[in-house]
Parts: sequence; structure tokens; C-alpha cells
Amino acid sequence: MAESEALSPTSRSKREPVWQNILVLFGTPIAAAISVPLYGYYTGFSGFEWACFAFFMIATGLSITAGYHRLWSHRAYEAHWSLRLFFAIFGACAIQNSILNWSADHRRHHKHVDDNDHDPYSVNRGFWHAHMGWILFNEKGPQDFSGVKDLQRDPIVMWQHRYNLTLTLLTNIALPLLLGFLTGKLWGVFILATLLRVVLNHHFTFFINSLAHIWGRRPYCEDNSARDNDLLAFLTYGEGYHNYHHRFQYDYRNGIRWWQFDPTKWLIRSASWVGLTSKLRTVSASQIEKARLALQYRRSMARLTLPSSTTDELRAKLEQQYREYQQALNDWTSARQAWVNAKRNAFSDKLEQLDQRMRYLELKYQLKLQRKRWRLLNAQVFA
Ligand SMILES: [Zn+2]
Ligand SMILES: [Zn+2]
Repeated sequence: MAESEALSPTSRSKREPVWQNILVLFGTPIAAAISVPLYGYYTGFSGFEWACFAFFMIATGLSITAGYHRLWSHRAYEAHWSLRLFFAIFGACAIQNSILNWSADHRRHHKHVDDNDHDPYSVNRGFWHAHMGWILFNEKGPQDFSGVKDLQRDPIVMWQHRYNLTLTLLTNIALPLLLGFLTGKLWGVFILATLLRVVLNHHFTFFINSLAHIWGRRPYCEDNSARDNDLLAFLTYGEGYHNYHHRFQYDYRNGIRWWQFDPTKWLIRSASWVGLTSKLRTVSASQIEKARLALQYRRSMARLTLPSSTTDELRAKLEQQYREYQQALNDWTSARQAWVNAKRNAFSDKLEQLDQRMRYLELKYQLKLQRKRWRLLNAQVFA
């Protein structure tokens, strides 16, 4: 079997089992379920072995989320070659196929989300298919790289694609065994840092394709199945804010609020302070608020379907309030931009700055007022 076919869902004809994927995805949980408790009971795991587990867990997890996903699949930022090399090596260690294969599938997922014929892990085919069934059986013939031509120009991506199997074996077997051998913990490191870690890393990643398309809230868009889920975000270094991600896939953040758990975002941003990442792409706060507002408006209007004088009146009020809220948002956005521009210009007139700021503050108050009216009106709709 060629290296590039490891864990690939799309390299064979109609519903053929991919035996090496089946072996890895069933073999590792069985091996971990037996070896972890037995070794733990008879020998015990030391702090060093747990530290190795933590390092491999975090390194492979972030290589998938910050590397495979946000850097290569979505081009949400740019990264220095040393960071790309790290992501390529520990991404191979995650045993989730090469960057090129992973990104090709993932871009198809975004382009054709929920379409059973073109989304490789469409949740409409059920939890099991979206979680891991799609990896166990190939259905669509040879892998199609037409959507990742840009990545084929990245020498690190192509190097990793070519030596994926070698890198996978070196990082999952040779490196842990060497670490174990050097510290006199030959099997302990391998059992935790490879077997247990591979199983957890696999299923936490798979949850994004399965659970994050089933369980959670949809604040930004309803035209696909993606959900925001805090628990999944906790398990997946921030990837659980999947509804936001499907609405604004080029944003390097998935959790946009400061309190949302998104260590992938924290890594990318802090790496930019030392020059390891650059050109971080974000969606503006007003675009995000507009998306939420449009969805709330559609939901409220859809609820007021039965014709009656009360609903007609509420519909008219909603319509009016929606327009005013949008206007307030647009005015606030331009005032904010004008204020930012004025601030940036070192020679700008201080008085003008003050004037812009006063206007900004006034419009900010207006927007607040619109938000409050909107909430009250919607509460009335759902009362
Ligand atoms: Zn994505
Ligand atoms: Zn998705």
C-alpha cells in the first residue's frame, strides 16, 4: 500500500474496506485498553511517562488544529518554515494521513457540507459514517487533489506527503521507544505517549466531524449542520466552535470571545508576537454581529407565521426594529473605522479625534439601545 493511502477515504473504488485504516483504528484502542491498566497495575506510570503523554497529546493535537486545519486547509494565517516543519512532523504523528490528503478532504467538506455525494464525512449519513466510517471504507476512487493545488507548492507539505508513513513510524514508534529506553521506561512511554494518545487524539478529532455537526447551538448560520459546543471545544483545542467556523472559515479564531476556550487561537496569536506566524485573518465584529442578527430575524419571523392582528403587528415591529438595528450597526462600524483612522494618523487634529470619538460614543449608545429593544421584542415573540 502506497504511503499516501494511509487513512485515506478516497483511494479505492466502491465501498472497499481499507484494511490498514481498520487495523489502526481498531487495533490501537484494543491495545491501549489492555496495556494501560495492566502496565499501570503491575509497573505503574511515572511523572516522566505522563509528561511524555502530555507533550505528544498537545503537540499532535495542535499540529492538527493549528497546522492541518487552520493553516493549510483554510490559509487563515501564514507560518514560518520552522513552525510548519513542526506541524508536519507531529501531524504525521497524529496518524490522520498527510496534510495534502487531509486538507483535500476538509476543503471538500466545507464546500459541500452535508451533501452525501460530495462531503466526505457528511453527517447526513449518520454519526458513525461522519465519525470514522468514512475512513474505514473507500468509495470515491483516487484522491482528488484539484482543490489543494496551492498546497502542492509548499515543499514541506510535499515532503511530508511523500514520507508520511516513514514519519508516522518514526514519531510513533522510534521516538517514544528511544525516550523510554534512555530513561529506563521503555514500554511505559510507548503505551501512554503512543497508544493511549493516538486513540484520544483520533476520537477527539473525529468528534468535530460527527458530534460538532449534531450537538450544540447554531448562532451564526442554519444552512448547514455545524454546531458550537463548549465541551467539544475543550477537548479539541478550540475547534468545537464549529458553527462559527463554518460561517467564517477563513478566520484564524474559532472561539471569538475572550472567555471561549480556543488554545489554537492563543498559540497562533502568541506565535505572531515572536514572528513565527503572520497575516492572521479575522472577520470584523460588525460582520459577526450582522450574521447573528440576520439569523435571529429569520428565526423570529418564521415563528410568527399564523396570521392575526397581534402577529402582524409584531412582524411589522420586528421588520422596523431589524432595519434600525442594522442601520445603527452600520453607523457604529463607520464611526469606529473613522475613529481608528483618525487615531492612526499621527498628524490628525486632536479636536477631530475628539469629535469622532463623541460621535462614536453616541452611536455606540444608540446601538446599545437597539440591542435592548431587539431583545425585548424577541422576548415578546417567544413569550
Ligand atoms: Zn474547517
Ligand atoms: Zn464541519
